[in-house]
Amino acid sequence: MRFRIAVVGGGPAGLAFARVLHRHGHPVTVLERDPAPDARPPGGALDLHEGLGQLALEKAGLTAEFRSLSRPEGQAMRILDTAGTVLRDWRPRPDDRANPEIDRGQLRDLLLGPLDVRWGRAVTRVVPGARDGVRVHFADGRQDTFDFVVGADGARSRVRPAVSPVTPHYTGVMSVETSLDDVDTRHPDLARLVGHGSVAVYGVNRALVAQRNSGGHVKVYAQFRAPLDWHADLDPADAEAVRSSLLALYDGWDASVLDLLRHGPAFTHRPLYVLPVSHTWTHVPGVTLLGDAAHLMPPLGAGANLALLEGAELAESIAAAATAAATAPGPGTLDEVVRVFEEQMWVRASRWAKITTAGLERLVSPDPTEALALFDEVQPS
Ligand SMILES: Cc1cc2nc3c(=O)[nH]c(=O)nc-3n(C[C@H](O)[C@H](O)[C@H](O)COP(=O)(O)OP(=O)(O)OC[C@H]3O[C@@H](n4cnc5c(N)ncnc54)[C@H](O)[C@@H]3O)c2cc1C
Repeated sequence: MRFRIAVVGGGPAGLAFARVLHRHGHPVTVLERDPAPDARPPGGALDLHEGLGQLALEKAGLTAEFRSLSRPEGQAMRILDTAGTVLRDWRPRPDDRANPEIDRGQLRDLLLGPLDVRWGRAVTRVVPGARDGVRVHFADGRQDTFDFVVGADGARSRVRPAVSPVTPHYTGVMSVETSLDDVDTRHPDLARLVGHGSVAVYGVNRALVAQRNSGGHVKVYAQFRAPLDWHADLDPADAEAVRSSLLALYDGWDASVLDLLRHGPAFTHRPLYVLPVSHTWTHVPGVTLLGDAAHLMPPLGAGANLALLEGAELAESIAAAATAAATAPGPGTLDEVVRVFEEQMWVRASRWAKITTAGLERLVSPDPTEALALFDEVQPS
């Protein structure tokens, strides 16, 4: 039995869903707002955990390719205090593959593989309940109809309102991002500071984190407690104005650490928003949500992992339901597997939302020793 299935969003959740369905021989339409895969910078590297993101890639049949692309050495983590003193310096064993890093662009291309994505298809609204299925409305005025629509369209999901009235709220933590290219040649001191993985510095209500991506590219994140409009008087496109404001915020920190902020060519503001930790909804036939659309949480290494695994698991359940329906046709089979999937997703996501919410409180905290204590709890000794 063939269901007409669409997934809105070609991020980790949507692509994992589509790729696993494709592996099981089921057609799926991927609707992505971006006009092309490389239309915008893909963002920082992701660490994919055993049992979460890595399990999803196994379900997609992509473990070997992931191993050849990922960087186990990227798991290294160094913690400094604001005077530049190294407090912790964890380095993974060569055989440690618990959480290797992969660039987002590489992960996207890996998942894309043979998938036929409809690029430049921004969805504005999804309306379930029509006699012929679920109606999808696009920004260009077109409409299409499917039996089942998956909202994997991230934090500002346009599919979410079809199942839930809840919207994300600001955590009080601002993240301002910049990056450095060719760091080993152009900024050798910073290359040493960052090492093969990440470096993090924690002060009072402030953090500065830098993460090595492949090809000598380093992402730098300044995270601090501030009102949403902290930069209301700044032109975000004026990199020097943003830099001066950041340097003033981090005044007193060691020059070797502040150097991370001195060289980036541009800054992007990403206020950290979240959904409530136990976001659920009354099941709506024909529509569900995955990933950030369902459970946006602080960016502490779980969101993409959950998104990938949910995509893969839902696809496997649907493939099994389609096979069952082909042998014993009957109404409601697809809907039943989606209901079961949602219940499981909510339990796991809520557990991680609690962990990451508590984690953010401790990492960007009035007491910087809390951040160190948190790392001591989660890092292998
Ligand atoms: C700085 C930072 C670091 C992070 N590090 C990690 C990490 O190390 N490990 C980890 O597990 N997680 C990490 N995360 C979290 C992770 O990025 C997200 O949880 C993950 O990307 C969610 O995947 P998704 O597919 O649900 O949504 P997204 O990645 O947001 O993808 C949504 C897709 O939908 C498309 N889209 C949006 N609206 C529409 C529309 N209206 N119509 C059609 N398409 C649309 C978008 O263009 C996008 O392609 C981090 C997040 C941040 C901000």
